[in-house]
Amino acid sequence: MQKKNEHIIIVGAGIGGLVSALLLSHQGFKVTVIERNEQPGGKLRALSSQEGPIDAGPTVLTLIDVFDEIFSKANLNLFKELDCYKEEILARHYWPDGKCLDLFSSHEKNLVSIEGVFGKKSAAEFDRFHRDCETLFFAFNKSLLRNREPMSFYANTDFLKSVPRLIRILGLPTNYWRKLEKYFSEPKLRQLFGRYATYVGGSPFNSPSLLQLIWYVEFLGVWRIKGGLHNLADRLKQLSTKKGVEFIFNKSVKKINIKENKVCSVDLHDGQKYKAGVILFNGDPRNFREGNLGENFKSLIKGKATEPRSLSAYVWSFASETKGLELAHHNVFFSKNYKGEFDSILAGQIAEDPTLYVCQQEEGLKNSSKNRFEIIINAPPLSQNQISLTKEYDLCKERTFQKLDKMGINFKNQPNLSDLTTPQTFEKLAPGGDGSIYGLSPQRLFSTFQRPSGKTRVKGLYLAGGGVHPGPGLPMAALSGKHAAEMIQRDLALT
Ligand SMILES: Cc1cc2nc3c(=O)[nH]c(=O)nc-3n(C[C@H](O)[C@H](O)[C@H](O)COP(=O)(O)OP(=O)(O)OC[C@H]3O[C@@H](n4cnc5c(N)ncnc54)[C@H](O)[C@@H]3O)c2cc1C
Repeated sequence: MQKKNEHIIIVGAGIGGLVSALLLSHQGFKVTVIERNEQPGGKLRALSSQEGPIDAGPTVLTLIDVFDEIFSKANLNLFKELDCYKEEILARHYWPDGKCLDLFSSHEKNLVSIEGVFGKKSAAEFDRFHRDCETLFFAFNKSLLRNREPMSFYANTDFLKSVPRLIRILGLPTNYWRKLEKYFSEPKLRQLFGRYATYVGGSPFNSPSLLQLIWYVEFLGVWRIKGGLHNLADRLKQLSTKKGVEFIFNKSVKKINIKENKVCSVDLHDGQKYKAGVILFNGDPRNFREGNLGENFKSLIKGKATEPRSLSAYVWSFASETKGLELAHHNVFFSKNYKGEFDSILAGQIAEDPTLYVCQQEEGLKNSSKNRFEIIINAPPLSQNQISLTKEYDLCKERTFQKLDKMGINFKNQPNLSDLTTPQTFEKLAPGGDGSIYGLSPQRLFSTFQRPSGKTRVKGLYLAGGGVHPGPGLPMAALSGKHAAEMIQRDLALT
């Protein structure tokens, strides 16, 4: 018999918190979400502009089956609730010497595309890389990503079946870049596939080769939502509200209170108190170590579960007319010296010639000749960031638009200071994370297994979000929200 009248408080309306809210309310629990910002989504957000909302967070939606399953569990149809459609081109990649390569979610098309730009040998090398990524994905998908407990992955049959092949694929060298040097003789392809380490906030030069499986996640399909990905957060909020969830915005939780090692209430910064039998924290778990939720929790999360920090970013969101190259939806403009770029980040700077990710979003309002753009530059997290606050806007502007101009695309309307999200802004948006976007850096060999799981040792206290197992990115953070909802449901059934 479940305790349906137990009050569940979710702290934070990021994707993890929103998914938990939807699933728990669907089960009939009384849920309140407390969010310090004025809208849901956390990093999944848009900036408003005269041309309409412009995404300022995620733009690449992968593993759509994760969302399909979550919506189905709440008796909803994802494709009816949101206008989702699959991209034909995964991304268009440009290099300073004028080379350009499109990749698709069709292996045959990719072989033709790579052979056309880099020759037969590169296509054959890619074929081998792709097949190894496929093996890794299927070995770890059910055993690790979809598994609530990170450390029980090795007992899963998919994993066990793949062990002999995994030994070959994950064997020496274990460093991602060294591994890419073995796969590809073409340096540009090392650069292209190395970039997938940045999807979880890592440097390809200082990450384990396991991250190559991210290529296969992307290959499975990149999706768009009409109007922008931020609509996913708004829709989840609306659907949860319909199921009875109460959302409280512009209020933040200062302290989680416990009595006899069981949660009992939260204190807000404005002095209010809310009682709760279950609390799900969707912020960065580093907050516990920092004492931001009360002195009691400083040792709740191990240091190796949150440190060192992953990358941050400078993000432009603006509308402009452009002249020059014909862009796809997702575009990457690479640097000449990829190693030098990550050395600059390690030294607390952004590179003189940074790799730029350019998302050409939807056209502006009717009769407008402008398109909406999000441009991302990798950056060090706050505590390592040496870039002066007074200089970062000019620096980012110069390095972004001079480079793009040189590489063949001119932006007529350049953005203002208010169009730039900085590591400092990320820290304000989601405090306690050191401005880093993806939580724990994936740099250690076993980082993937070291994030905290959704259930803590304090009775009634659960975690969800990109800093929690299975990790950052929309589908992973959504999975963590699903895992937490399932654990809460199961535990309440036992009490
Ligand atoms: C620029 C950028 C690009 C990205 N690109 C992609 C991409 O293309 N594809 C992809 O899959 N992922 C991408 N990501 C990563 C993805 O956005 C995140 O991994 C994911 O959104 C994290 O969700 P979360 O559940 O951890 O919640 P978060 O987004 O971190 O939100 C947590 C929420 O909790 C609230 N909160 C925290 N503490 C408190 C408190 N004490 N009281 C009240 N509220 C609190 C915060 O205000 C915040 O709203 C990108 C991220 C960024 C920033």
